[in-house]
Amino acid sequence: MTAPAPTPALQAVLDRMAAAARAAGRDPADIALVAVTKTQRWESIEPILAAGQRRFGENRVQEAQSRWAERREGLELRLIGPLQTNKVRDALALFDVIETLDRPKLARSLADEIQKRGAAPRLYVEVNTGEEPQKAGVAPGAVDGFISACRDEFGLGVEGLMCVPPADEEPAMHFALLARIARRNGLEKLSMGMSADFETAIRFGATSVRVGRALFGARAKL
Ligand SMILES: *Cc1c(COP(=O)(O)O)cnc(C)c1O
Repeated sequence: MTAPAPTPALQAVLDRMAAAARAAGRDPADIALVAVTKTQRWESIEPILAAGQRRFGENRVQEAQSRWAERREGLELRLIGPLQTNKVRDALALFDVIETLDRPKLARSLADEIQKRGAAPRLYVEVNTGEEPQKAGVAPGAVDGFISACRDEFGLGVEGLMCVPPADEEPAMHFALLARIARRNGLEKLSMGMSADFETAIRFGATSVRVGRALFGARAKL
């Protein structure tokens, strides 16, 4: 059986990712595409799944459950939206990766639930690189201490860092900041870059990019 052809939008994103990687002297194989499926209809998602895409990102636990719980097999699911502590159990039952660890209360709750399950997801600490009051994420000045606490106090393995730069600022400086914070904390994985800026993120070291609209078109308004 031959693999089905990628959809034109998927192929275009993969081509742009590979070109950005080569331009930065990086191996395209070192950068993962996370297809962000929040609010998308199944008819839009199905062709991309059929084309072989296996890594998906979701913002809400409940929405992700309804979309993926019955077709979970062989996929890597990543939570990229805020996680309330009362949803931790459900999140751990569904997601392979949680990219939005951003406060001690959540770290404690994750640690407790991981202990009960005997299995841990891969974890990313979200950094609020723009220090925007309305946005989730640890402030850059507090992140080293938070990562240490995750490791030493809560016994959590941290795989990498994630950020969503302010909409109205040049993203490059935020990506550079995230890469710097990762380096000084011995972290190799960087989840950064969305439809509008994933090529810039790859230039600054992204190891995964989270792409929605460029794959699926505009989202329905929530
Ligand atoms: C929605 C979302 C994305 C994808 O954004 P697009 O602009 O559609 O590519 C990536 N990351 C996070 C955290 C998101 O909420």
